[in-house]
Amino acid sequence: MRYNALKILKEGLTGNKGWTPVWREPDPKPEYDIVIVGGGGHGLATAYYLSNKFGMTNIAVVEKGWIGSGNVGRNTTLIRANYLLEGNQPFYELSLKLWEGLEQDFNYNAMVSQRGILNLYHSDAQRDAYARRGNAMHLTGSGGALLDEVQIREKCPYLDFDNARFPIKGALWQPRGGTVRHDAVAWGFARGADQKGVDILQNCEVTGFQIENGVCRGVETSRGAIRARKVAVCVAGSSGRVMSLAGMRLPIESHVLQAFVSEGLKPILPSVITFGAGHFYVSQSDKGGLVFGGDIDGYNTYAQRGNLPVVEDVCEGGMAILPMIGRARLLRMWGGVMDMSMDGSPFIDRTHIDGLYFNGGWCYGGFKATPASGFCYAHLLSKDAPHPVATRLRLDRFRRGAPIDEKGAGPQPNLH
Ligand SMILES: Cc1cc2nc3c(=O)[nH]c(=O)nc-3n(C[C@H](O)[C@H](O)[C@H](O)COP(=O)(O)OP(=O)(O)OC[C@H]3O[C@@H](n4cnc5c(N)ncnc54)[C@H](O)[C@@H]3O)c2cc1C
Repeated sequence: MRYNALKILKEGLTGNKGWTPVWREPDPKPEYDIVIVGGGGHGLATAYYLSNKFGMTNIAVVEKGWIGSGNVGRNTTLIRANYLLEGNQPFYELSLKLWEGLEQDFNYNAMVSQRGILNLYHSDAQRDAYARRGNAMHLTGSGGALLDEVQIREKCPYLDFDNARFPIKGALWQPRGGTVRHDAVAWGFARGADQKGVDILQNCEVTGFQIENGVCRGVETSRGAIRARKVAVCVAGSSGRVMSLAGMRLPIESHVLQAFVSEGLKPILPSVITFGAGHFYVSQSDKGGLVFGGDIDGYNTYAQRGNLPVVEDVCEGGMAILPMIGRARLLRMWGGVMDMSMDGSPFIDRTHIDGLYFNGGWCYGGFKATPASGFCYAHLLSKDAPHPVATRLRLDRFRRGAPIDEKGAGPQPNLH
């Protein structure tokens, strides 16, 4: 079934009886060409592009919980392509281009909203760094401009421009950045993959890998063994735990990242805003809530809940640029487990075990990467060669001395 305005009108007039389930609930088959482990945004996008663009349909997505229960349904919905380094920026530009056509492509309303993103700067040195970043963005066609204080005052008069410690001097502005409704992305990709015959197996946990003579031949799951020619892992915050089942240790640590939403307010923020002197970012949802977040919690964990010191730290960041946020009531907060890599950049690669592939290390930036991650992983799985924009996202880059240290913070996940 294709969704369109006429269909909505017809269903509205006839009691909404004609809608069918958005994807099937099949039982696992004994064997597939490709088993994708993890039904988050990246796993579902991979299945979608494999089946819709690379002509491979004998695929299962194996998800231990339900679709959207992981980080794809927990993030703060921001998308952008404002990176600096060659290993990252072309990849994120591809992702932004895919976002721009996504709703037409998979025929699903994901509420892609290119309302723009403002990265505030507070000093001359930071302005110079943003100018450099803006130039790198122009090299890949991502656009962007440096705005001065007057231009930001016009857009966001509520900001605390004259804060004694962190006066706002200007911003790097990317008008193509914005927000996307996160769980609709999971549902849209799931629907598009299912329509091509991909089996989405929910409540099916991978508990082991079938590795025979150094070749991965399938997975053990809570619903029985499944054979596969290729096994593609993309389990985000569970990367370390799942890959340890194959005897691998990864250059990844797991940390909690928390997010917050306020009560609904009248429209006050025209775009996404990030604080340049502390870790705080905010946007306003279509329901009116201020959606915001900040740093990861400082300790390693697989638990999806955070702690109060980070709540205090994030709210202080909010007060520093937007004092009126102190008058709004906090409605909800939640946590997700992040796969923090040692240089802050991701991996899309084969492993040393034939037939076993890995996608992870997305840190807290993997939502915006979802379409390109799925596309590049699908490219790798179908052609056994990396997509041109993902050639540097390799697992051995630390051994080769070629990390993609976007922030120049070294191997310290809490600083990326
Ligand atoms: C609070 C918060 C805010 C964020 N904000 C942003 C943002 O604004 N912009 C941005 O770009 N990124 C953001 N992120 C990061 C982004 O959400 C993640 O990087 C991205 O969603 C990870 O990819 P995924 O969607 O595939 O992960 P997930 O949705 O977590 O998918 C992984 C799936 O693997 C499944 N799984 C795990 N173990 C097994 C197993 N053994 N067997 C089977 N299945 C298994 C899990 O159940 C899960 O569904 C944020 C994250 C959080 C938590």
